[in-house]
Parts: sequence; C-alpha cells; structure tokens
Amino acid sequence: MLILAMKLLAVWDIQAILSTFLLLQADIRDKDGLEKVFASARFDAVIHFAGLKAVGESVQKPLLYYDHNVVGTINLLEIMAAHGCKKLVFSSSAAVYGSPKNSPCTEDFPLIPHNPYGRTKLMAEEICRDIYHSDPEWSIILLRYFNPVGAHPSGYVGEDPCGTPNNLMPFVQQIAVGRRPSLTIFGNNYATKDGTGVRDYIHVVDLAEGHLFALRKLFDSSSNIGCEAYNLGTGKGTSVLEIVNAFEKASGKKIPLVMGQRRPGDAEILFSSPAKAERELHWKAKYGIAEMCRDLWNWASKHPYGYAASESPKLNGSSR
Ligand code: UDP
Repeated sequence: MLILAMKLLAVWDIQAILSTFLLLQADIRDKDGLEKVFASARFDAVIHFAGLKAVGESVQKPLLYYDHNVVGTINLLEIMAAHGCKKLVFSSSAAVYGSPKNSPCTEDFPLIPHNPYGRTKLMAEEICRDIYHSDPEWSIILLRYFNPVGAHPSGYVGEDPCGTPNNLMPFVQQIAVGRRPSLTIFGNNYATKDGTGVRDYIHVVDLAEGHLFALRKLFDSSSNIGCEAYNLGTGKGTSVLEIVNAFEKASGKKIPLVMGQRRPGDAEILFSSPAKAERELHWKAKYGIAEMCRDLWNWASKHPYGYAASESPKLNGSSR
C-alpha cells in the first residue's frame, strides 16, 4: 500500500504529480512502517485510500478485509494522532448504503451494508465519527464513492486489476482488447428502463478532484467541518446496457453479451444525490459516460495488458 506525501495540486497533470509528490511505501497494517513514514516528514493532512475493495473477495475472506480496512485504519488514526495530524479525507463507498429503497440516495439514508467490504467502510466511518466526538480537533471528510470509471485522459494512468476483474467496466475493457470473450449481464429483469441494474458512474478524474475540494474544505479556517460524509457521484442513473453501448461507441468494439442471473447482493437501482458535496464542498462532477468511456478506451488501447507490459509515464515532455 502506498502513502503519498502531497502538496495541494491545483492541476491534475501526470508530470506535475510525478515531480511534486514524494513516494514512500508502507503497509497500513504495519505500525512501525507507518511510524517511520510519519517520522520522516510533517504531514498536514492524510487522504486515506489504502484498503481492499473487491466485494466478492470480502465475502470469501472477511478477516482479511477487516484486517486491512478496519485494523489498518485504526493504526493510521493512532499514528496520525500521535503526530498531531488531525485532518483526514477517507475513501468510503456507496456500499455503506446497501440497497436503499429509492434513489437518489442522500447522506442521511440508513447505512445497511450487505457485505463485509461495505461493513469495513461503515466501521471505519463510525471510528472516524467517534474519534471526532472524543477530540474535536479532528476534521474528517468521508467521501462515499459511487461507481468510478475511466482513466486519466493522458492514457498513462488507469485501472489494472489483478486476476479476473470484479467490476463491470474493467471487465468490458478486457473484452474490447481481446482478453475475454463476452460479458455476462447480471440480471435483465430488474424494474429499470431496460431491465439491467442502474448505477451512478463517475469519471475517476472527477472523483480525484473531489478529494482536492475536500482537502480545501478541511483547510478552510472559516468552517469547522467536524466529521462529515459526502456522496461523490453524478446524480444520474445509467443502466448496464447504456454504459456498455457508450463504451462500444467510444471504442468501435463490439462487446458480446450473455444474459445471466442476478448477482447476489446487487442493488437494483443505486445513484447518488451529490447536492451536499455541491453545496458544501463546491464540487460537481463535470464528465458524463461518453468521456468516461473515451478515456477508459484510451488507457485500455494503450495498455491492453495493464502496467506490466507497458512503458512508464514520461517524466519529460508533454504527458498528453
Ligand atoms: N455487472 C454485470 N456484469 C459484470 C459486472 C457487473 O452485469 O460482469 C453489473 C452489476 O450487476 C451492476 C453494475 O454492472 O448492476 C455495476 O457493477 P460493479 O460490480 O461494477 O459495481 P457495483 O455497483 O456492484 O459496486
């Protein structure tokens, strides 16, 4: 797992990032390793991304998930407190909502996760709320991600799943580059516009920018944020067939489809209300599914086998 010591960046540019960030590596479960990181520099804030994220794997290996996502978070919070660093942006998930009865989903909806992954995120959120109540010097923003899709527009940074992808779009991208034969649609008899599940897909660049807006909020001396949760989504519901069609259009590739059974635990319709993030963080998603699919294809076509078989980002010259 990685810890990035960062300065606030106004731009989201690979070259700027590579020249501005100091990269230190530690496992979040290793308190000595974390201590060394925190002893090496003064940190004003932490964006905590470290964790495991595959829902299916979390059902098979719950202890592994509780260890990384909950114990790891406790370790990090302890070390942060010991070093007087009490500003945190935490990667939470729409999985904390489970299957709400209706969408758009606001932050005050009941939190009833359906799987160990979602429960680890909810537990970490609760821990954050508790430490804030015990010590109001903490300022914590919990970002509940909806369905991140896409890649950096440079085509140099994208998702490279280990093994078989669990999520829809990494799977689709591997079909487009010839690594897999077809997509199984998990249920086409939902009460939705075309029978397939509806989600709120958000471009990874919009998602990344949400973190910068959250950091700015933490450093805004005119407000005491306390511990607050925000949805990061577009507020738009898109079906599986709609996003697959958008990807076919962006890539010019046909995605063969097989209609399959519903996946246990899947919500029928889940999309966000991003109104609170718009109002309080002044953040709003800019991109739609066409841009998500365009940038995903740009990454996938340049890196059909992910990072292993690819050139590294260029340190000199234009990244675009
Ligand atoms: N999905 C699908 N086939 C797949 C993977 C996903 O039909 O191989 C559907 C899934 O049922 C859901 C949507 O795609 O409706 C998004 O699933 P994903 O796993 O990407 O995200 P989730 O919303 O479940 O976290």
